Amino acid sequence: MTSTGMTMMSNDTRAVTEYVMRADVFDTHTHLDESENVAAANAWDILHYFWFLRELRAAGYPAPNVRLGEADRRDAFLTAFERSRNTYWNTIVRRMLADLFECRLETPRDFDTLEEKILLTSHDPEWPVAVCERIGVKNIVVGAREMHVARSFGQRLVVVPYFEISSELRESAVSAAAAADDALASIHADLDSLRSSGYGTIRVDLEPLLSGRVASEPSDGIESRLYHSMLAELDRAGTRIQVFCGMKRDTRHHTMLNDPQRIVRLYPVFDRYANIGFEFVNAAAGNNLDIVQAARVFTNVHPGGLWWFNFRASSYRSVFQQRFEALPALRSSIVASDARCIEWLYGKVLFIKTVLAEFLADQIDRGWTDTEGARRVADYWLCESARTGYRR
Ligand SMILES: [Zn+2]
Repeated sequence: MTSTGMTMMSNDTRAVTEYVMRADVFDTHTHLDESENVAAANAWDILHYFWFLRELRAAGYPAPNVRLGEADRRDAFLTAFERSRNTYWNTIVRRMLADLFECRLETPRDFDTLEEKILLTSHDPEWPVAVCERIGVKNIVVGAREMHVARSFGQRLVVVPYFEISSELRESAVSAAAAADDALASIHADLDSLRSSGYGTIRVDLEPLLSGRVASEPSDGIESRLYHSMLAELDRAGTRIQVFCGMKRDTRHHTMLNDPQRIVRLYPVFDRYANIGFEFVNAAAGNNLDIVQAARVFTNVHPGGLWWFNFRASSYRSVFQQRFEALPALRSSIVASDARCIEWLYGKVLFIKTVLAEFLADQIDRGWTDTEGARRVADYWLCESARTGYRR
């Protein structure tokens, strides 16, 4: 390879990386409305984030509920932080602290500097917007709860309410025929009320259909009537829905569950309710390709962000390849940060953008696209697909 060729290639890589890092982002799922303060209130709000905590715990770090004095807690953290240095979250935490607070954690005294800085940012109403601006975040999905935030931050929020057929409603409907009619009426009334409030996108629980407990084709069973009448209502209104999948929820241990039938099972649903836009936010690595295949068959299926156990670089890399090679970029979005504080929103978007920039540079390198093509993919995946799809 000539030196000129290498220079050109590294220029492409540099150009794509700079573009991706500045590109606009639409974050399709967060819990910022549930946190007391959008910003971290202290260092532990960041350092004990539960995904990162798992890696620290795997390196011998004591559980947060183990009683330790602050000095011992800091020592224990520094040991586990060093031992788990290879993990990607570890690198992201280091970059997050450096970028946002110009801090690094190497000695117990470094905590004092970090805590002083976080004390200031946690009380600064403009801090969340400043963080968003640094990483290009323009829109952030939250649930329907009231939030008291600076207007500049509030303008970025997109409310996606959650709708489920509650277990109480299901049980009462199954127990008596009259209650079944009431349940159907209440589902219609609730969906009507969401629609009249102007929500363009709703997060809907489809777990009974994804797991096969409720059949994809309507039948006379009570549960089938409830779920299919909900879907018919969403279809009539042409609603876009977020469908979260891939988790096995348990009272003690939530875990990822691969189920090869999960998405295929829904083919009759995609077909019957063709006016619903189904966006999948997926936690099971084993279903990533199934979602892309469904999106190739059904124009109302949209691969969305990766979630829980699937939020890792190896998953993103394979998902990027699966989507890039076979699905127009406008059909999918990739950011669902699940963040509970603005600092982790920064970290997670930094993570996705870093892996995406590597992927796109590699596609250019291999000759499958050029810088212009790579930029368009980044725009759609990071922002435009969601911005268009979530519009009321
Ligand atoms: Zn979540």
